[in-house]
Amino acid sequence: MLTLVPLIGFPVAGLLVENLPFTEAVVIGVGIALVMFIVNLFALRRASRPMWEGVVEDKTRKERSERRSSEDSNDSTYIEYTTVIRTQDGKKKTIVEKDSGNHMYDYLSVGDRVRYHPAFGTYEKYDKSKDRIIYCNVCSMMNPIKNDRCKRCDNLLFK
Ligand SMILES: [Zn+2]
Repeated sequence: MLTLVPLIGFPVAGLLVENLPFTEAVVIGVGIALVMFIVNLFALRRASRPMWEGVVEDKTRKERSERRSSEDSNDSTYIEYTTVIRTQDGKKKTIVEKDSGNHMYDYLSVGDRVRYHPAFGTYEKYDKSKDRIIYCNVCSMMNPIKNDRCKRCDNLLFK
């Protein structure tokens, strides 16, 4: 709606103000409206990835194999860890991790309530009362639960 203001405002100003040619006023108006429209578009896209909350529904581990290169005929195997979270509006979200990178698989248990922070791509557990560790929601660093600030980035830990 706000984008319409310069779109209409500048041509009107061009008609009223003598030393501002009408065509120039139209071009300026359209240009400003376009810039505002693009800015709005980006803001909308960011808002379309909102923070969500959910409950851990399932955890699975599966042995998988992959071929490292075409010359190497032997497949290497790895463990794939999947953590399934059901969001409040019924959507299914999955965290897929590999081998020793299974931090969230280790951290979260079935039944845990979690909150996802899209700005950082991190998961926050609601009930941290039984935990000895806490993950930084800004840089994903693992911290002892007694810490108030992250030992790596110094941001406040969400408790
Ligand atoms: Zn941190």
